[in-house]
Amino acid sequence: MIVDCHTHVMWYPDHLADQYVDEALQSKLVKLKRSGGEAYAARLDRHSYDSKPEDHWKASETADKVVVFGLQAKASGIWVPNELIADYVKEHPEKLEGWASVDPTEPDCVEQLEHCVNDLGLRGLKLGPVYQHFDPQDRKHWPLFKKAEELGLPIMWHQGTTFPSKSRLKWSLPLQLEDIAMDFPDLKMIIAHLGHPWEIDTIVLIRKCPNLYTDLSAVHYRPWRYWQSMISAMEYGVEHKILLASDFPSGTIDNVINGLRNVNKVVEGTGLPQVPKDVQDMIIYENWKAFFPYWA
Ligand SMILES: [Zn+2]
Repeated sequence: MIVDCHTHVMWYPDHLADQYVDEALQSKLVKLKRSGGEAYAARLDRHSYDSKPEDHWKASETADKVVVFGLQAKASGIWVPNELIADYVKEHPEKLEGWASVDPTEPDCVEQLEHCVNDLGLRGLKLGPVYQHFDPQDRKHWPLFKKAEELGLPIMWHQGTTFPSKSRLKWSLPLQLEDIAMDFPDLKMIIAHLGHPWEIDTIVLIRKCPNLYTDLSAVHYRPWRYWQSMISAMEYGVEHKILLASDFPSGTIDNVINGLRNVNKVVEGTGLPQVPKDVQDMIIYENWKAFFPYWA
């Protein structure tokens, strides 16, 4: 069975502000122009990253179970109503699991989270300090993490770099989560995107925190960093804590599986170590079992 533990539903302009979308496009265009992708770049517009339920459903074909959420980050101009996620999940309860997103800068975020769980049936929490502009080490947020632990909700963290000019990258460092993991040992958490480009920090952190995991979304298109991270993950013995994820619409589950199958390409013909097929298989088919035991 294949589980995609990280996907989004959100679209322009209902949930994404102009500035956010324009800066996203800008960072993509710079990369495309450098790599000769002008033709593709010319087709991009503010709707290029729309993920409406029908797009999401189509992109999820390969996966057997899919975790889906929006994001609420007022400071970055991102606001997806949790009701939208709950309604979509109700259409496909056999396959989709909806998680909430609340903005920790909102004074009633704990009550909002309770509402999402008790009234909307959502089962986890998505946070992104770098988008929500909050300091994950500030103890004033501890009641939110305590509530999540109490309700048995896993947390998906966007720890890792990003493009918006107003974001503070210091809040996206994986090590920012160490105190939370230690103070709430029963809280299951995922550091998205291997915490790129701080993959090694993610690896050593998930090694020492039993309930902390990471996901493989949005990393395969930087093949050199990706290969190095996978080798490091094996050297530190954490390959069993890497979960498969697409971060749709930033990638699809098919791209991610294909990326993993080709992880050794960048070192082909060299004497450098390889990520064996059985490790790849484990990440694609097995690792989700520890995080989602109720599907096993
Ligand atoms: Zn995400």
